[in-house]
Amino acid sequence: MEFPYLFSPIKINTMELKNRIVMTAMHLGYTPVGEVTDRLIDFYALRAKGGVGLIVVGGCPIDELGGMASMICIYDDRFIPGLKQLTDAVKKNGAKIAAQLYQAGRYTHSATIGGRKPFSSSAVRSKFTGETPRALELNEIPEVQDKFAEAAVRAKESGFDAVEILGSAGYLISQFLSPITNLREDKYGGSMENRMRFGLEVVEKVRKAVGPDFPILMRLAGNDFMEGGNTNKESRLFASGAEKAGIDLLDVTGGWHETRIPQLNMCVPHQAYVYLAQGIKSAVSVPVLASNRINDPHIGEEVIRNGQADLITIARGLLADPDLPNKAKNGKSGLIYHCIACNQGCFDSIFRLQPATCLVNPRAGKEGELKSMPAPEPKKVLVIGGGPAGMKAACTAAERGHKVTLIEKSDILGGQLLLNQRIPGREEIVTADRDLVNNLKALDVVILLNKEADIPFIKEMSPDAVVVAAGASPILPDIPGIDGKNVVQAWDVLAGLIGVREKVVILGGNAVGLETALYLANQGTLSPHILHFLMTSRAESIETLTELLNNGNKEVTVVEMTKKAGKDIGLTTRWTIMGELRRLGVNIMTNTKAVGIKPDGLEVETEDGPDFLHANSIVIAAGSRPENSLVNEIESLVPEVYTVGDAKEPRNALDAIKEGFLVGLKI
Ligand code: SF4
Repeated sequence: MEFPYLFSPIKINTMELKNRIVMTAMHLGYTPVGEVTDRLIDFYALRAKGGVGLIVVGGCPIDELGGMASMICIYDDRFIPGLKQLTDAVKKNGAKIAAQLYQAGRYTHSATIGGRKPFSSSAVRSKFTGETPRALELNEIPEVQDKFAEAAVRAKESGFDAVEILGSAGYLISQFLSPITNLREDKYGGSMENRMRFGLEVVEKVRKAVGPDFPILMRLAGNDFMEGGNTNKESRLFASGAEKAGIDLLDVTGGWHETRIPQLNMCVPHQAYVYLAQGIKSAVSVPVLASNRINDPHIGEEVIRNGQADLITIARGLLADPDLPNKAKNGKSGLIYHCIACNQGCFDSIFRLQPATCLVNPRAGKEGELKSMPAPEPKKVLVIGGGPAGMKAACTAAERGHKVTLIEKSDILGGQLLLNQRIPGREEIVTADRDLVNNLKALDVVILLNKEADIPFIKEMSPDAVVVAAGASPILPDIPGIDGKNVVQAWDVLAGLIGVREKVVILGGNAVGLETALYLANQGTLSPHILHFLMTSRAESIETLTELLNNGNKEVTVVEMTKKAGKDIGLTTRWTIMGELRRLGVNIMTNTKAVGIKPDGLEVETEDGPDFLHANSIVIAAGSRPENSLVNEIESLVPEVYTVGDAKEPRNALDAIKEGFLVGLKI
């Protein structure tokens, strides 16, 4: 057994888990009116079948003011029959299931609760919603606490194996706990003991309502990461109190939604917040669950083996690959499709009020609809292009029993995914390439590298179906001086084919332009391991180290024609990239048009008139055009021809992989 710690059973009160992998609650957008749907059931049943030990669903609003109507509601008995179907489906497939009891307090937006005013410990404006809640009256507090207890009883009646009280991320219980949001002068405010009272009384009431044997979990912030807020020290005190009040497991995550410290983005290192769980573990004797940026069984095994936590969370990782636990258990960890923390399919969709899906798993959220059925008749399939769309099409077609050949003109598979490998904080995208390659090999797809797709080859192969996934090529804009020696393409810079000089202007402020800026502005700064060495050996002062971290050897300017740079970057990622560019001193000029390139810089037209930007190197990031000239030529030669990904129209990897998948299902 490769992962003995991860796959050892554990008992949480009376609940026996077969392994230490927990899928924590995620808002998925599959319950538009709060009732359980077939879509939700199909989604979680497949994750249960994939071998996860415990699934926590939710958040489940405990009252009508606690959250959005589109969450998995538990505030009324009318939800019980649907919830029962959900718990039956999960349990039938071998996992345990818990309901997360959710009351968002000042994180509730009034628009989502019919214009009513949300409540909190005190009337402190929320940066998350931009609204100011009202403070709960003293006599209202027991009523709210009772709602938690009533919801817990409903969960028990619905067949849940446990409940999880949500006390993290800046929701109602954290609002009482924090000196920033709790300004009360009664017994629920002031001292730490008083601020803990609301949450601990909730635990006591829930315990009393469900009895001594029913497992109660609590999710809490290991550090709020809010200026003046609670740190791990206060969290340890609260965790210890919660244990005494009747909690059976503490699920430790990072900070509040309002914090500027990233929690779930790709730039957050793996295991970044395990130290917070470790801190809580030192203060309690009940099991502790470590969360955030654990996407692989090797990482989970290490955390548990090292004694930093007793269980680990993999949530988005199971969106990406429902079979992750079974693959790990059965010696197939090399075939896991990892979550790459891109947030493009999941959180970015949720913020756009769309149901969650996944960049690496287009089937996520459509389990009932998009089934991979064996092909009625195996066909000879040729996929042209080894980027994400082509690889996904090849994998999907091969899984269905087709005989697939994939040809790629370069010497490596991955296409534009590979351009991310040098961009600090974006390197993990390359994992999506590695996972597809591993699966292609396991599926016996014939891979031909350094091979151009030409008519003689296609005629000789005589395929039944061709998928054109030849990608795109960068555009060279029509600007005087574009053929100058000082002009290079961003793709060549990111591929490491060419270097640039110290003063750089990047033409184009889309994702590629900004990520190229990030790459170049980081050149000459300290790498993480050199920083660690210099810091631990006290070779330089903190001030010098900070200076060396923030200042490289390039002066970078980005020129963008429109009024906003990075429009094609998802909401949940853009702010981290913009923050990094600011830290590194990158100058971003919007509403600025390039009009001419000279040997010593770029002529631009700004809102204030013409300007000249001195530079030694001009990097072009002006978009791309599809590579699909072959399609017309082969249409008369091959019965089925499909065009996918950037070859159809340049877009992002989410669209590319989805299209490859859908064509793979169709052939
Ligand atoms: Fe992970 Fe990205 Fe999929 Fe979300 S969309 S689960 S972050 S791979």
